[in-house]
Amino acid sequence: MLESAQALIRKTAEKMKLDEETIKRLIEPEMINEFAFPVTMDSGKKKVFKGWRIQHNSVLGPYKGGIRFHPETVREEVQALATLMSIKCAVAGLPYGGSKGGIAVDPKKLSKTELERLSKAFAARIVYVIGENVDVPAPDVNTTPQIMAWMLDEYQKIKGYKSPATFTGKPISMGGSLGRTEATGRGGLFVLQALLEKARYRPAEREVSSPSNKLTVAVQGFGNVGYYFSKLAHEAGFKIVAVSDSRGGIYDKEGLDPVKVMEYKKKKGAVSGYSGKKVTNEELLILPVDILVPAALENVIDEKNCTKVKAKIILEMANGPLTEEAYLYLSKKGVVIIPDVLANSGGVTVSYLEWVQNRMGYYWSEKEVNDKLKIMMEKAFNDIWKKSASRRIPLKQAAFEVAIERITSAMV
Ligand code: NAD
Repeated sequence: MLESAQALIRKTAEKMKLDEETIKRLIEPEMINEFAFPVTMDSGKKKVFKGWRIQHNSVLGPYKGGIRFHPETVREEVQALATLMSIKCAVAGLPYGGSKGGIAVDPKKLSKTELERLSKAFAARIVYVIGENVDVPAPDVNTTPQIMAWMLDEYQKIKGYKSPATFTGKPISMGGSLGRTEATGRGGLFVLQALLEKARYRPAEREVSSPSNKLTVAVQGFGNVGYYFSKLAHEAGFKIVAVSDSRGGIYDKEGLDPVKVMEYKKKKGAVSGYSGKKVTNEELLILPVDILVPAALENVIDEKNCTKVKAKIILEMANGPLTEEAYLYLSKKGVVIIPDVLANSGGVTVSYLEWVQNRMGYYWSEKEVNDKLKIMMEKAFNDIWKKSASRRIPLKQAAFEVAIERITSAMV
């Protein structure tokens, strides 16, 4: 993952004819913070955990990036994700650099009090390298608004002053932003709609207003991103024909109502069995749909299944859902791939809006947040679309070029 992120930046930078020292500044992280720290477990014994906060690039502003808790988290992964955050923030037009944090831990094996002590112990380690003008963490895999609240509480106790803008993704009561929960799914929909406006593949031509002729969508993953994307896309007139979670999926040609599917999932623990035909996660990816939305895991479309993908548009809501081979094959075939750094940047964009609200001490309504998100996502898309059209390059390459141009133009 780290090698491919670095290779992509190098390849793009070389095509842009940047010199070697500039390329090094784009690839090497500015600071790697690695911690080993003890946490008292409920048994009274101490256990040592490994954690990282890797600060990749701060040319455009304070570092920004989530903190993940996962048993397989390693330094290379955190570094790769920090690198991609620099690109994502630049693509989204945010005044931020990129960073990422992580602890190698399986949070499901901890009690709530152990999780709180772990979160606070980590916050106490990173306190000297973060801050609202330095580095702003947020939730990521297996971390929640509650965990951000614990970390912020510890940070403020050590510092001796309030600084809600130091963490985003907080509970609303601690200065979180309205609209943050839905932001990644909503942002993905804004980008998809902006693409359909530009591309020849317009919904108007297919008379989306006619219920029998809506654009069909299959969504893999029915968590935060997949669910809100499906719900909002359904409300916007798309026909969600398939959804899935880790236990499999469902396919209904007549279309699904995501809200009802979620009610069923809450009762039964899975989407499978709600209606239509049961499909595996592998089968969902190759259904005859207009738009495929991988919103669960990385590398799900690879060299084995990419030849069977029938969708004409892929909206990468998960991070890195296509392998390099699959990406090259599908883009050569003419499939429009909206890259993750753009498609799922709605989350970090509303994190930015949360940070702005915290710093000015004035809070917007949910509608105001959503309206600002729409303007920012459409601008991000349009800038990349223009680059893609003028240079006749795919959206992903255009996104990396735009990001690298923005970062290097601010280098002194
Ligand atoms: P989540 O944990 O809320 O949901 C993940 C979903 O994927 C769940 O429905 C789970 O059942 C499903 N899933 C797990 N294993 C699966 C498998 N093998 N096949 C199919 N489905 C499977 O996570 P999320 O926040 O929705 O994040 C999803 C993806 O989006 C991740 O790649 C994440 O990095 C990316 N992302 C999330 C955000 C955000 O704001 N939440 C922002 C940017 C990117």
